Amino acid sequence: MIRSLFAAALLLLPVPAAAQDAQQRIAWNRPAQPFTVIGNVHYVGTDGLSAFLVTGPAGHVLIDGGLPESAPLIAANIRTLGFELKDVKYILINHAHFDHSGGLAELKRLTGAKLVASAGDRGDLEAGRTRNRPELDGFPPVKVDRVIRDGDVLRLGPIALTAHMTPGHTKGATTWTTVADGRRVIFATSLTVAGQKLAGDPGYPQAAADFRRTLARVGAMGADVFLNFHPEFFDLKGKRAAQVAGRRDAFIDAGELPRQVARAKAGFEAEARRQGVR
Ligand SMILES: [Zn+2]
Repeated sequence: MIRSLFAAALLLLPVPAAAQDAQQRIAWNRPAQPFTVIGNVHYVGTDGLSAFLVTGPAGHVLIDGGLPESAPLIAANIRTLGFELKDVKYILINHAHFDHSGGLAELKRLTGAKLVASAGDRGDLEAGRTRNRPELDGFPPVKVDRVIRDGDVLRLGPIALTAHMTPGHTKGATTWTTVADGRRVIFATSLTVAGQKLAGDPGYPQAAADFRRTLARVGAMGADVFLNFHPEFFDLKGKRAAQVAGRRDAFIDAGELPRQVARAKAGFEAEARRQGVR
């Protein structure tokens, strides 16, 4: 009895944060099978972190690089789909945190692609710095070859990807949109508060105002296919299973974006109240 109580008490001990983070990284980086989401938009990420390849006859565009240890998995997924690494001409990034930007330097090296990023995230990318998560601080620094501004369109043959500055989660968080198979596709940046100070952060004093503006803006965008860089946020696995079962429109759901934004707004306002930010 005493023994089992002791065992039960042990189970209730919190797992140290560093061990949790290590487990999280391993789970995020499990391999995943690549597949076509819609038209020329393909999933080439890992099990827990998205990366997308937009393909065309003049070359391809990769969005996001996962963790540093994700780069070989993403590269292998691109090849598995029958594409060549040297045909990847641009790499884009949704925001400068270690779990999305970690693989960029290695993927640039493997492909020879140019990295396109916002001015707001450039400093963190080139320093290899994740703000607000000092225990995980650090990923291989990566040079930004071209700075993109709000409304800029990146073109590569018939591919057109529009950049939308959607700061909050980071200062330079960027949402990308394109059209595939006649459908509006959004690659939405993270809209969550990531353990950051919403007010009084000297490195980012306007975070709260940026979040509110971004949530209103993204909420008004409209999209037929919602994609994001944490697959569990938009039930990528459920949609993929439906697609494999024969539903060709498995990823088409114009209601997903408003649902995501409503959830993000509720999460933001709860965190703002908790932090006493108006
Ligand atoms: Zn993040």
